[in-house]
Amino acid sequence: MIFAANFKMNKTQKEILEYFSNFNFDGVNSNIMFALPYTSLSLINKLPQNNILYGSQNVHFAKKGAFTGEISVEMIKELGADFSLIAHSERRQFFGETDESAALRAQAALDSGLKVIFCVGENHRQRRANRTKFVLKRQLIKGLKNINNSQNLIVAYEPVWAIGTGKSATATEIQSTHAFIKGVLFSMFKTDIPVLYGGSVNIKNINDICNIKNVDGVLVGGASLSPDTMRELIISGSKK
Ligand code: PEP
Repeated sequence: MIFAANFKMNKTQKEILEYFSNFNFDGVNSNIMFALPYTSLSLINKLPQNNILYGSQNVHFAKKGAFTGEISVEMIKELGADFSLIAHSERRQFFGETDESAALRAQAALDSGLKVIFCVGENHRQRRANRTKFVLKRQLIKGLKNINNSQNLIVAYEPVWAIGTGKSATATEIQSTHAFIKGVLFSMFKTDIPVLYGGSVNIKNINDICNIKNVDGVLVGGASLSPDTMRELIISGSKK
């Protein structure tokens, strides 16, 4: 199981150091990933290391150049990042991320040896119009079309209507959507790609979600911001 946390635009360096000094990792031995704000990537070498990967929430595709406000793969790697989220729905929704730009970012990150958590998900309108599978297939095919080596690729299914809303998808919806995503990924890469679920994961639903077939882990936003809750999520989600 993979337990990935997305801190979004939360926590100063001081707060990140406090978070990890309060995090009790005893007895926790799952694969854990923390997507930190850029401003805290320089702390990585001071943070706990056992089975824990640290990364960014986005990364640009160009090696360098006139891209004001962007950060390159080399810059985050220099600070010790192991991975980046790509195409999170908040990037798609608020910052103009398209399937095309996401494809370039994913390619640049994977080519450099970083792991990538590539996010896909339908919004409420697309879901109501019964277009979920169409949208997911398009996001996967266009967003991952340049990828030759899928070894470091992880996909996160995050229905946009479930992110930060307290409304998680049902077990049946998650199972069938993950099976669909895995099928598309298998036809593209001829291998099993891990698929995480994200969207209002909390203490109450984590164990059920982690025990759904085809769920390889979770991507957690809001609930990951407390070290005690994140620990509880990992422990509860690891139980069969
Ligand atoms: C996310 O931001 O990836 C996410 C899943 O958020 P939340 O857990 O708050 O819904």
